[in-house]
Order: sequence, then structure tokens, then C-alpha cells
Amino acid sequence: MAQDDVFKKLVAHSKEYGYVFPSSEIYDGLSAVYDYGQYGVELKNNIKKYWWDSMVLLNDNIAGLDSAIFMHPTIWKASGHVDAFNDPLIDNRDSKKRYRADVLIEEHLAKIEDKISKEVEKARERFGESFDEKKFRETNQRVLANQAKIDELNERFSKAMNGTDLAELRQIIIDNEIVCPISGSRNWTEVRQFNLMFSTEMGSTLEGSSKIYLRPETAQGIFVNFLNVQKTGRMKIPFGIAQIGKAFRNEIVARQFIFRMREFEQMEMQFFVQPGTELEWFARWKEARMKWHQALGFGAANYRFHDHTKLAHYANAATDIEFRFPFGFKEVEGIHSRTDYDLSQHQKFSGKKIQYFDPEKGESYIPFVIETSIGVDRMFLQVLSASYAEEELKKEDGSTDTRVVLRLPACLAPVKLAVMPLVKKDGLPEIAEKIVNDLRFEFNCQYDDKDSIGRRYRRQDAIGTPYCITIDHQTIDDKSVTIRYRDSMQQERVNIEALRDIIKEKVSIVSILRKI
Ligand code: ATP
Repeated sequence: MAQDDVFKKLVAHSKEYGYVFPSSEIYDGLSAVYDYGQYGVELKNNIKKYWWDSMVLLNDNIAGLDSAIFMHPTIWKASGHVDAFNDPLIDNRDSKKRYRADVLIEEHLAKIEDKISKEVEKARERFGESFDEKKFRETNQRVLANQAKIDELNERFSKAMNGTDLAELRQIIIDNEIVCPISGSRNWTEVRQFNLMFSTEMGSTLEGSSKIYLRPETAQGIFVNFLNVQKTGRMKIPFGIAQIGKAFRNEIVARQFIFRMREFEQMEMQFFVQPGTELEWFARWKEARMKWHQALGFGAANYRFHDHTKLAHYANAATDIEFRFPFGFKEVEGIHSRTDYDLSQHQKFSGKKIQYFDPEKGESYIPFVIETSIGVDRMFLQVLSASYAEEELKKEDGSTDTRVVLRLPACLAPVKLAVMPLVKKDGLPEIAEKIVNDLRFEFNCQYDDKDSIGRRYRRQDAIGTPYCITIDHQTIDDKSVTIRYRDSMQQERVNIEALRDIIKEKVSIVSILRKI
């Protein structure tokens, strides 16, 4: 199936099965804003728990925080967001569509990279076992020519972005003959800057209101609480502060479902270290975060790092963790070495000393920061994309049937088990209800007695329930039930008493946390 179709199906499936709804749908929706339905909210909570536990529960030196969305407006001046949280936008005069100029160039670069990958894969097939990829990349003329194009373009692009040279960004688009994907034309406007922060008024106009911002990231709430947490928690460097919360950005181009939203949620951790040790910590966090993603079992080949060549002026290293979505490899998480920029800025703008006294060195300094920043919603989309599958099943009469299944990691699945009486009589519903009432303290359970058993299984497959328990007449005699596994569709008979232990082990987040 074409990847575009897979994505469309995923969006439709999310809505049909109560995962994600367009916001304000009865009023025709609100662009790039979404609501999470009954299963969506459970999956989202489980993702957040997986992240939170991996940070706060497993690390003595990482503390949690929940700072307010509204903050003093000077914070955004100090952080650079008022002056520089801009995206360069460009319009195509023929299609009247608006784009981010940097994204157009990045997509062009990705196309050249794709050409190289295809060349490499072709050669791999041709040479088989003896293929030496490194040598091929160093000697093949077509690969070398394309790599030279990438290097040259990257250098020009970095310079233009770092110097905020909007005319040069436009010139790059013209020189590389980048066309509008809708109109196919090169009829571009000038490039303009657009600030992504939403603002509102705080206080009534009578008493003099002031302009405040909806935070575009959660990180600044951590920086301005650095001293509070450090002092009250008696934290010693190196230590981190983790927080999960909403962020808001007035994105110019908000497409691709929950990948780019105007209201979204972030899970950010700022790790404060001694100056000079930051690159070592950057490397450690890079590895730790990749492990966290891969522990979910979606396959290492679906992840890659994208190391930044264009660094923000205050950063000395940055990388993205990219996941292979149905629309290609895209960022889910950023890991940045931000030097002492943020704390220094807040020290300067607030006039308060923001330093750490290092008892071992006997001196005070402004710590350096490694940031790990991941979007909950993008992670949600990663989990759904990796889990959605359509399977052809052979029926007993030889015909085929399609099963749609969400192969969610059991620890993230919204419903852990569905309990189903085979028929709605003979005392079977009562046994099923008793099992649910017994297990619901530990797992999210669902009682289901509507439709045929086959249809009930399909419904649970579609929401990703890993285990279904069926109660039949044999249960009355010997207290055994059938447990059916979502992925293999295998069934086995087990005793009711054994259910708790079987399921507990399989759905526990601990087993995944132990892998990281
Ligand atoms: P992009 O380049 O895709 O706009 P970014 O580099 O601006 O992302 P960061 O500022 O590093 O993103 O934010 C950290 C994380 O927050 C991202 O990796 C992403 O997972 C998430 N995120 C950022 N913007 C959005 C958005 N508009 N909608 C959903 N998630 C977002």
C-alpha cells in the first residue's frame, strides 16, 4: 500500500476508534488543533508515564516540575523568543499556498539524499555479500556529485539561516529551481519573518493590562525555577529538571495531522552540568534517548540521528532523533547542548544571581545545559504509525478477510484486556463481570458482550487491546478461560486464578523501563 494511503487510513482509524478527533468538529473544526478521545487520552497518559518514569523515577538526580503556562513577559525577551522565534515564510503566487522557506530547502536536500540512498541500495543488490558501502560512497561518481551538491547547499543554507539573510534564502530556492508542490511553479514572493508566539492580555484594561504570551516551549519554566529546585532539593551538579506540559505555536504551515499542531504537549528535561563536560553529557543523553525510543520494539532501522550543521548561536551541539513516519523520516525529539545561554540571559534580565556553588571546586559558576525535548503528540503519532497494520487472513472456506490491528506495545495500550462471555446467559456474564471487577484495580479492563465473538475480537484488535479473555461453559466446570493474544491470534486455556500474574507481567511498563 502506498505510504500516503497508509497515513490517510491511520487518520481515519484514529477518529473512528476514539483516539483523535478534530477540535470543535461540529463547528467545522479549528485548524491544527485536535482533541484526544477515550482511547487517545489513555495512550497519551501511558506515553507520558513511560517518559516521566524513565526520567524522574529512575534517576536520583532528576527532579520533576509543573510550571505555569503564563509567565512574566520579560522571560520571553530574555530567552530570545520575542525577537527571534520566527519562521521564514514564502508564498507561491500561483497556488496562493504558504510555505516555510527553510522547510522547502530541507525537503530539497532530502530528495538529493534519497537519490544517493537509492544508488547505494541498487549497488548493494548488484554486489551482494561483497558490497562495501563506505568504499562505494567514496568512489561512485554519481554519489560524489550529489554529495558535493548537498555539502555546498548545506553550507549556503546554514549561513543564510544563521545570519537571518531572507533574500539569500529566497535566492537559494530560485537557484535550486525548487517548485511549489501544488502549482509546480517558481513564482515565489519575498521571504518574510513570522513570529510564532500567541499573545493575550492579562488583567483588566482599567488597571492597565499587559501583554503576555502562551509559552511556545516548556523549557523556560525550568530555567526560571533552576534556583528553587536546586536549593529546595539540595541538588548537586550534574542534575536535571523534567517537566511535561502544553506549548503553543502559531505554526505557518500546519499539516500532517498531529505532527504539527498549534497547541501541543512537550516532555522536556534540562540537565545542568559543569562547563567543559557538556559534550560528554550530550553524547550520553543522545544514546540514552535513542535507547528509550528503541526499547518499544519498533525496529532500529526506523530511527536515525540528524546532527545539525546549522547551530543556534548559543548551542555547541544539536541533534534530532528522527522516526520513519508514513511520510518519511521526521523529527520526534531534539537534543541540544545550549551552553550557559539561558541561565545567563535570565541572570542578566532579572538582575538576580543565577549560579551554582560547587562545593568540590570551591567556586560558583553558571551551569551549562543539555536539553532533551520531545513532543507527546509526535510520539503518539510514532506509536500509532508503527503499530497500525492491515493483515490478509485466510478463512477456513479459502476466502480471505482483512484484519486491522494496532500492534501497540502492551504497556502503552489503552485497554489491557477485554473480558467477554461467549453468550449472554447461563451465568457467563456474571463470571465475566466478576473477573473485570477483580482486575480493574490493576489494569484498564473492558467488559464486552455485544455481537459475535469474532466481531468482538476485531473491535479489540482495532483499538489495540493485547489480551481478550473469553468465558464459556467449560469455565463453569473448571474455572478455566481462554486467553487470546492480539498479535498471534493464538488462544490458550488458563485458570482464572492465573490471569492476574500472566497479564501483569506482560503489560507492565517496568519490563520496558528495565531495558533502557
Ligand atoms: P520543527 O523543526 O518540526 O518545527 P522544532 O525543531 O521547532 O520542530 P523544538 O523546538 O526542538 O522543535 O521542539 C521540541 C519537540 O517538540 C519537537 O521535536 C517536536 O516533537 C515537538 N514539537 C515542536 N513543535 C511542534 C508542533 N507544532 N506540534 C507538535 N509537536 C511539536
